[in-house]
Amino acid sequence: MRPFQFTQAKTMDTALDPGARFVAGGTTLIDLMKLDVETPERVVDINPLPLARVEATPDGGLKVGALVRNSDLANHPEVKARYAVLSEALLSGASPQLRNMATTGGNLLQRTRCYYFRDTAYACNKRQPGAGCSAMDGYNRIHAVLGGSEHCVATHPSDMAVAMMALEASVHARTDKHERTIGLDEFYLLPGTTPDRETVLEPGELITYVTLPKLPAGTRSHYLKLRDRAQYEFALASAAVVVTLHGGRIERARIALGGVATKPWRSREAEAALEGKPANNAHFQAAAEAAMRGAKPLRDNAFKIELAKRAIVRALNTATQQNSESAS
Ligand code: SF4
Repeated sequence: MRPFQFTQAKTMDTALDPGARFVAGGTTLIDLMKLDVETPERVVDINPLPLARVEATPDGGLKVGALVRNSDLANHPEVKARYAVLSEALLSGASPQLRNMATTGGNLLQRTRCYYFRDTAYACNKRQPGAGCSAMDGYNRIHAVLGGSEHCVATHPSDMAVAMMALEASVHARTDKHERTIGLDEFYLLPGTTPDRETVLEPGELITYVTLPKLPAGTRSHYLKLRDRAQYEFALASAAVVVTLHGGRIERARIALGGVATKPWRSREAEAALEGKPANNAHFQAAAEAAMRGAKPLRDNAFKIELAKRAIVRALNTATQQNSESAS
């Protein structure tokens, strides 16, 4: 690890240093600094800031502070009762120890688990723009089949962000000059020719909180994560489904995928295949086909296409078979 200047922000004004990196739980940044993948000159500890509350919003939604720990958010009574998909996604991520440290803001900004990104012996466009991509001709079993470019095919690792994508969350952020609200669908960038840029955040822009809108009555949700082992493992494919039923028909559907794309992946194709249709297996299959129609497999990861389809179908079956008392 290289030397860096460390300060602790006591107020929002002292935190907003455009040339610094923020640290909260430290579960991504510190790891990557030890590997020399991240080499910030200044690190600001934002833990003292008053951003660790979960509150109701006036319009019936929920406001989640950027410093709310993943375990606190997963076990919050309002989240368990009304946003089950989010609680399930959080509890499927990492380990209890990591969830006790990791924060909402940090989870949104997790870096990829691509092995070549995390090992400075290999070329990586995300770590060093223009260097090349070792995954293209390397071992690419864990990489993306959706949203990739010839410059990068790394998957986004967050479970929480996939659930938030299906919940149509908004990110609230600020710099020393302005505050803004960004829909999560616009927050993440595709790699294109600049895989080093992962979000629309500017240098030094701080996530302050996330809002979740109120869900329509009759909405049910579920998060299903498929992986190589049952605990402490990243998704090979995951599905977050949020569906509103009326008389056995799907009035509204929000579908997002994890583990298969370069960002938390909302599938409007799957949503269109479901809305207005009876909630049955044939339409769930059609939605899964629609979601993965544009997938482009690499040498070692074609299996993810079928895996993601099965995740979507199973998650939809689970969500729509919940009885109304357990619905979100
Ligand atoms: Fe780097 Fe992306 Fe290629 Fe992985 S897939 S080596 S993160 S450029």
